Amino acid sequence: MKTRNAPPIHIGGYGNMFDDINDLYQQVILDHCRQPRNFHEMPQATCSAQGHNPLCGDQLKLFLSLDGDKIKDISFIGSGCCISKASASLLTEFAKGKTKADVEEMFGRVHDMVTTGNVQGDVGKLAVFAGVHKFPARVKCAILSWHAVMAALRGDAKPVTTESEQN
Ligand code: ZN
Repeated sequence: MKTRNAPPIHIGGYGNMFDDINDLYQQVILDHCRQPRNFHEMPQATCSAQGHNPLCGDQLKLFLSLDGDKIKDISFIGSGCCISKASASLLTEFAKGKTKADVEEMFGRVHDMVTTGNVQGDVGKLAVFAGVHKFPARVKCAILSWHAVMAALRGDAKPVTTESEQN
């Protein structure tokens, strides 16, 4: 595993959120926030998408390298709060080597999980975001990178913004 200099972290804004999330989940989120995985540009990307969450100021750009339906490589850059960055980091870990259909299916599960708290099936490490549903203002931070990856897979040229989505 490569270590790299962590980008500046925009801390604050999550208030007492972590009081209600167990320590393990908190540690995973903070770890991915401080040292995001796959955090770099990808000149050879076959598609990309930008996401913006104006409510919080989160901005990110995802890069994908597709081989047919398979995601050979995925990375992101951007700035934002801990939740948005950790979500994008864990998304890239999940999506690498998966198919479009795998990512679409997981998008549905993650969306349900962060909006209702219900975890369907095995979501792996992404379960760390299950507590986010208790903090409606943070839901968009957690789902932003997922909207962006779906836009990239659809080939949408327009940046996605959480303002145009229900969540
Ligand atoms: Zn945010």
